[in-house]
Amino acid sequence: MHTVFSDGHVWPSFRVNEALRDGLDAISITEHIDYEGFPDEIKKDYNKTYELATAAAKNKNLLIIPGIEISPRVPPYHHNALFVTDANKYPSEYMKDGKKKFIMKPDLTKAQLMAPFLEAKKQQAFVFYNHPSYSWWDKKDTTVFTQFHHELLDQGIMAGVEVVNSGNYNILAHRMAMKYNLTFLGNSDEHYDLYPRYADTHRPMTLVFAKDKTAEGIKQALIARRTAIYVDDFIIARQNEAEQFFKAAVQLTSKKIDRKGEPILEIKLSNNSDIPFKVKATAQYDIEAFPGGQTTLLPQQTTTLILKAIWKYPAKTPLKLEVYNILVSADEVLETTFDIAIDQ
Ligand SMILES: [Zn+2]
Repeated sequence: MHTVFSDGHVWPSFRVNEALRDGLDAISITEHIDYEGFPDEIKKDYNKTYELATAAAKNKNLLIIPGIEISPRVPPYHHNALFVTDANKYPSEYMKDGKKKFIMKPDLTKAQLMAPFLEAKKQQAFVFYNHPSYSWWDKKDTTVFTQFHHELLDQGIMAGVEVVNSGNYNILAHRMAMKYNLTFLGNSDEHYDLYPRYADTHRPMTLVFAKDKTAEGIKQALIARRTAIYVDDFIIARQNEAEQFFKAAVQLTSKKIDRKGEPILEIKLSNNSDIPFKVKATAQYDIEAFPGGQTTLLPQQTTTLILKAIWKYPAKTPLKLEVYNILVSADEVLETTFDIAIDQ
């Protein structure tokens, strides 16, 4: 996100209050290193936004991750660097003069564009490609993953990509993440206050499967690609994270019942998450009452499925679920199976 310390329109403590209201565990304010909205009013200290946010989050259960945004308008375009140790050390020599207007030098060099990335590497920052798109860039360059990106990847600098930015799902970025094995990130990139835009939903966010709630724990999880994106009612993740997330969210219990002589298996699916999961269930027996086996597992509720008729109960039987709002690639939804053990 941004604040008045680059081209945002709120103070850093405002971002902290929004995050506390939304119950988040961690945020990062990633000011542009090469653009300032209010240079006459705000002194150039790129660490200030982190310092003010950290002070506002003191004694609160919210981690502030120091970050910046490197934002040239030629390849490699915008990238965030997280876990920076000194935001003032990031060069932006590709800019013409001053940073009030975004004008780059006509004779800028590759070395000038590479310089902030080398600084990120030196500071062991986690770098990811922001909102990859070609529609609002130079129309001459329609390659989204350019030679420059290959170099950043080969040098171990760039490790992730924003598949969701300001509420918009980017299928090109999703395919890029799968192809180059990049960490999935979903961010608001908010410049104003978040509330009006997400009044009826929640801000897009990255779910990070960290071993502990520390900045280092988050960093290690990002490096290991243990993330999922939560946008509207969708989860976007790799198969492993998607499946474990779903199975941690939905508990299954079953019971044999003799219903007036008809042997059935009653299955209860309890969704302990806040996400309504749209599923299609398939079993080796008929599923009662849900056309096509389709239903929605409502948040914090239990859905009952009946399998029938089971004249001879097996020791176990599979229940396969396709979860339409969990994507495991740009073209596939999560498929998972519960092996239901049946008491004999
Ligand atoms: Zn950007």
